[in-house]
Amino acid sequence: MQKPQSIQLHGQLTSADMRQTRPIPVQMPEGVTQVHFRFRYSPKFAPNQRLAHQISLMIFDTEGPRFEISRPDDQGIWIHEAEASPGGMAGPIQPGTWQLFILVHRLLSDEPVRYELDITLSFDPIERQPRSWQPGLVASRGPGWYRGDLHAHSIHSDGSLDVPELVNFWREQGVDFMTLSDHNTLSGVAQVRSLSDDDLLTLGGIELSTYWGHAVAVGVRRWFDWRKLDGSQLTMPELAQQVIDAGCLFTIAHPMDPGDPMCCGCRWEYDDMMPGNALAVEVWNGLWSARNQEALSWFYRWLNQGHRLTAVSGTDLHTLPKSIRRAAVNVVYAQELSEPAIVDALKAGRSYISSGPELILTAHTSAGEAAMIGDTLPPGEITLRTTWRGSDDGDSLRLVLDGKVYREQFVAGSGEMSWTLAPGSAKWFVVELRNPSNDLLAVTNPIFVATAGSL
Ligand SMILES: [Zn+2]
Ligand SMILES: [Zn+2]
Repeated sequence: MQKPQSIQLHGQLTSADMRQTRPIPVQMPEGVTQVHFRFRYSPKFAPNQRLAHQISLMIFDTEGPRFEISRPDDQGIWIHEAEASPGGMAGPIQPGTWQLFILVHRLLSDEPVRYELDITLSFDPIERQPRSWQPGLVASRGPGWYRGDLHAHSIHSDGSLDVPELVNFWREQGVDFMTLSDHNTLSGVAQVRSLSDDDLLTLGGIELSTYWGHAVAVGVRRWFDWRKLDGSQLTMPELAQQVIDAGCLFTIAHPMDPGDPMCCGCRWEYDDMMPGNALAVEVWNGLWSARNQEALSWFYRWLNQGHRLTAVSGTDLHTLPKSIRRAAVNVVYAQELSEPAIVDALKAGRSYISSGPELILTAHTSAGEAAMIGDTLPPGEITLRTTWRGSDDGDSLRLVLDGKVYREQFVAGSGEMSWTLAPGSAKWFVVELRNPSNDLLAVTNPIFVATAGSL
């Protein structure tokens, strides 16, 4: 039996490598059955800095991605034909040139950071059979409102829950669908799809966590390569188009999060995509906050500029939350409970965001043409009607026309309200429910009004 072989590589990174991707070719010999990678760097912190350096490693075989090491540690990771540690894709170890990429997300000092890469190649036969995950089946429930989440992480990137734990959390919440969207890896997606059943649809997603912004793609079947996003070889609108052409929902995630140095890459900084061809924007990430209010304001501004995109929420769970009372789910009117139908409905704007209350908005013209959220009505006099349920004393309902509060009224429990708008009053409108502290409880996507001659 052939003895294991080891490869040791090391080098230095400096602040000049920040937001750079450093390639390292590695020759994979014939006959390897298992590879162990251990990637470490030191120091972890810059002098007098509270924030740690943030450096990850991507591993590519001769055909595509095999691993994203988001959190390098002393144990390292392994890949073989039948299995891989979380974050990795199992499969044959092809001989040839593999490419490793060091991704320098944050490096906060001029003092060099030394990295070490230990690679151990084994030639022992693998006895286990590759695991294959069969997609879980969901019985059709027909057209209706379905509640669920579009953004969460597991141990396949930087989350602490394994995939079944994350799915079970959402089962306990009683939602209709949930999404796994790990950073830059699809390694948990087959497993999450296998856990769908009649009570819970499990969607496959990925969070493209780039140096200048994060985007969540929902409905993914393949990996998307963002490493050439330096402005010359690939632009973010081009990458977004690849995601959209693959049938996925492309969502700008938490656009107003703090960026450098607190969270390198977390703020949306693509000036050529504000919002460009994005299909959705996450206006409610995690718990309701001032930065979410800022994202909602941007959404309204983009609508006023004539963009059409859907406001969505994502819990961005990384661990079991103490409470999700101030988090929200998407309530989607879909033709059925299936991944394509949920994605299609979100693309069409047929959803509202809610931390609990039900909030329905419809409208019709004086000629009797009816619309629900996501639809466009012809110009003219419009009557809109909203119904709500599950609000508390002191909550208020706002009608927002073209981004401005047009009417605000205290509400409690459940009810309905109608307004008639004169022709030309608005190009779009939504309703919001807010609590006495002005925190958002729910917001609909818009109904649009065509301008004369544009229909
Ligand atoms: Zn993110
Ligand atoms: Zn995330």
